[in-house]
Parts: sequence; C-alpha cells; structure tokens
Amino acid sequence: MTRITIAKGDGIGPEIMEATLSILEAAGAQLAYDEIEIGEKVYLAGNTAGISPEAWDTIRRNKVFLKAPITTPQGGGYKSLNVSTRKFLGLYANIRPCFSLHPYVSTKHPKMDLVIIRENEEDLYAGIEHQQTDEVVQCLKLISRPGCEKIIRYAFEYAKLYGRKKVTCFTKDNIMKQTDGLFREVFNEIAAEYPEITNDHWIIDIGAAKLANAPQDFEVIVTLNLYGDIISDIAAEIAGSVGLAGSANIGEECAMFEAIHGSAPMITGQGIANPSGLLLGAVQMLSHVGQTQVAEKIQNAWLKTIEDGVHTFDIYKDGVSTRRVNTREFTEALIANLGQVPQNFPAVSYQENARIQLPKYERKAPKQKTLQGVDLFVHWSGTDVNELAAQLKALSSSEFELALITNRGIKVYPGGFPETFCTDHWRCRFMANNDTTATKKGLIELLSQAESAGIDVVKTENLYAFDGKASYSLGQGQ
Ligand code: NAD
Repeated sequence: MTRITIAKGDGIGPEIMEATLSILEAAGAQLAYDEIEIGEKVYLAGNTAGISPEAWDTIRRNKVFLKAPITTPQGGGYKSLNVSTRKFLGLYANIRPCFSLHPYVSTKHPKMDLVIIRENEEDLYAGIEHQQTDEVVQCLKLISRPGCEKIIRYAFEYAKLYGRKKVTCFTKDNIMKQTDGLFREVFNEIAAEYPEITNDHWIIDIGAAKLANAPQDFEVIVTLNLYGDIISDIAAEIAGSVGLAGSANIGEECAMFEAIHGSAPMITGQGIANPSGLLLGAVQMLSHVGQTQVAEKIQNAWLKTIEDGVHTFDIYKDGVSTRRVNTREFTEALIANLGQVPQNFPAVSYQENARIQLPKYERKAPKQKTLQGVDLFVHWSGTDVNELAAQLKALSSSEFELALITNRGIKVYPGGFPETFCTDHWRCRFMANNDTTATKKGLIELLSQAESAGIDVVKTENLYAFDGKASYSLGQGQ
C-alpha cells in the first residue's frame, strides 16, 4: 500500500479527480490517500500561496502528490501554486508524453509519438520582476549549470530507458548567448556521453514550427521552462486535445502528477470534462511507485475505450466516434474494459523499476573571476544621449571609464542612429581603465560620484571574465 497526497483542485478538478480515483480503485491500485485543500478557496481566504503549511507537511511526508488543476485568482499578489510546488520540492523534470490516437481521435499527425522533457525550476519562472523606471519593467531569466545538467541528463537517461533513438534540444541561443547558450553547451557535453542516441538542436522558433507541422520527426525534446510550457500545450492539442495529456513532475525526493490542462471554468459543473489527462498522470504515478501492472491495466483499458469510439465532447467526431459520453459514462466504459487490451493500438507494457536516478551534481572547481567593468542602469528622461554621456564622462573615477550606452540593448552611444526609439531606461557600460584592475571599492566610488552628480542609478550589473573569457553580452551594434 502506498500512501499518497491528493488535491481535488478547482473548476473541473473535483469531477476529473472523482473519475480518476474510481478507475484506480476498480483497477486494484494499492493506494491510501491524504486529501489536502489547495487553490482558489485557500487563496481567497487570504493565503497568497494557495496552500497551508500543514498541507505542505502532508505532501512532503508522502512524497507522491496527485493534483487536479487549480484556478489562480486574477489580480496581483497571488503566487502560482504550481510553480511554487515544483520549485519548493525540487521537481526539476516535467515529463509530458504526447501521442496520436489515430484513427480514433482526429489529428493531422497520425504518426506522432513524442515526449517533451521540460526544465521545471528555472528560466523566467523564477518570478523575479521589477519596475525600474516609469517606462520599463524587467523579468530576470536565471539559468544554472546544475539545472541544465540535471534536466539534460534526465532526457538522455529517459531515452535510454524507453528505447528512444533521438533527443532534440530547443533553445534560442542565437539571441540569448549566455542563458540559452549555457543550456546548449551542456546539451552538447552530455550528448557526447550517449553515442548510441542521436542528438540534434533547433532554434525554438523554427523548432516549434517543425513540431507543429511534422511532430513524427521528434522523439524526445528537451528544453527550457517557458519554451517547454508552450510547446507541450501545442503538442497535446495537435495530438487531439489538451484534455488528453498527463504530466509527471519528478524530483530527487518527491514527485507530483497532474493533467497538463487547467481548471476549464467554461465547462465546470456540467460533468462533461475529459478525465484522460489526470488519469494518464495517475498512470505515470503508478509506474513511479512500482505498481506497473495496474498502470498497464488502466492504460490498456483506456486505449480500448478510445478505440471503441467512446468519446467525451472534446474529441467526439461524427463518423469516427460511436458514443458521445459525459465524464461518468466514460469512466464506467473504461472500468468495464479493465483487463482488456486494445485491438489496434499496441498494448502498453511498463518496465519494472523504471525510476531514473541521476548522480548527485558535483560542483566544478571555481574559475578565476575578474571584474572587468560595470553596467549602471540609469533612469533618465532626456532625449539627447550626448547630454547623458557628458554627465557620465564627468565622473572622475580612477578605475572606470564610460565605454558605451545602450537603450533596450541597442547601442545609442557612441555613434547611434537617430531613428532608434529610446525609453527612459539607459544601460551605461563602464569598463576598467587599461592600466588598472577594477575593484569593488572603485565601483562603490563610481556609484557615489554618480549619486553626487544627481544621476539616478536604478541597478548595477558587474561585468566579469571567467578564466579570462568575458562573460556578459555585448551591446547590439557594438
Ligand atoms: P484550460 O486548460 O483550463 O482550458 C483551455 C481549453 O481547454 C478550454 O476550452 C477548456 O474548456 C478545454 N479543456 C481543458 N481541460 C479539458 C478537459 N479535461 N476536457 C475537455 N476540455 C478541456 O486553460 P485556461 O482556460 O487558460 O485556464 C483556466 C484556469 O486554469 C486558470 O485559472 C489557470 O490559471 C488555471 N490553470 C491551471 C493549471 C494547473 O493547475 N496545472 C494549468 C493551466 C491553467
């Protein structure tokens, strides 16, 4: 018997959870449940996290969590519980299988069968955002080497375990050379350790277009958090319906299983939702806790039900489907099929002990870090950048001199174009004078002079070289 935590969530959550739990019971799953309350009610009661401390204790004690979708109320101040759960519990890998159910579910892509492995803890989802000037806000994109190593190694181990022949990486490293560049660099390093698995890389924009047009060309896709979020919804939708896909969020200690879709307020209370997404999340959970035979039994009965043409409204099609059913009728049909295998789809079989355990991350020897300069971000409402440059040049720092000014990343001084549109947010790059070594003390002196001169510095970024390699982006046009 495995004790797990469940949350029925909001919207269609309770309806699809009830369906899922009755199928798990009928299939003989050896599970005991602790139910917790999360989501809208908890948020609206004044808890901005959407979950109580006691509920966290339950999740951490049981280590396995089956979660229905929740509604995050509109308006500021509410933190996404999905993102918090993934990050608090270290659930670094989000696994989303998307496959065609042709000819029983209408799709333009009959041969599609791929798995998206999405980094789950980093990227723009760090949720670190600031307004810096009247006109400009920012969001920090944080990418770490351990984060990249874990998710990319997971993708190759997954391919090895499930007999997939190719792993494809999606990034935008032609633009984000530091962040996406690191992801791709680590991908190349780790791919070299798996010579039996083919690897390739696509820039995300054309990669997403290829995925939408020819998904059969992909087997395992590994990518950063935001891109993975977007492409997995696309992949699920083109496979047939967003209501069909389940997902696993895997960490070293804990794991969470869910549907990829949300709480679907438009169809709530009608009893018509497709429970397949949450059910397939639960099937991944059964495999994770070692109840592989029950996982197989449920997935095979589910395939048989789909094959029988017993379809909820989202996948129902005249001429293909045989019965248009609601959630309860779909559940009953599936339970009646338990113990049977599909006639036309290949029957599913899950491997025993299919858990992927990665080696612990080993921190690399530190590189030699040298301060080469500093970017001062300045709030300034003038229009002629030469005026700002003159004020900055007048700062008599012994260590730094003004090298360039950019606006939204594009160089505007020296030698910008009058056509370039400028906001009130200026990145002013100071580099160390040739004959000095830059120090933090010199940097504080520069800031203090800027303050005395009435220059409104809203943030600074130090410019470092690691082992002699400049590790910051150039200004566009520099
Ligand atoms: P959604 O996924 O709830 O709905 C998108 C579309 O898919 C709707 O047309 C909906 O009716 C349909 N759909 C979704 N699930 C279905 C199912 N099981 N069967 C049939 N049709 C289904 O996305 P949304 O409308 O953008 O978001 C609604 C709420 O869900 C928001 O509050 C959002 O924050 C939340 N949300 C939660 C999660 C989660 O808890 N994991 C994920 C995404 C969105």
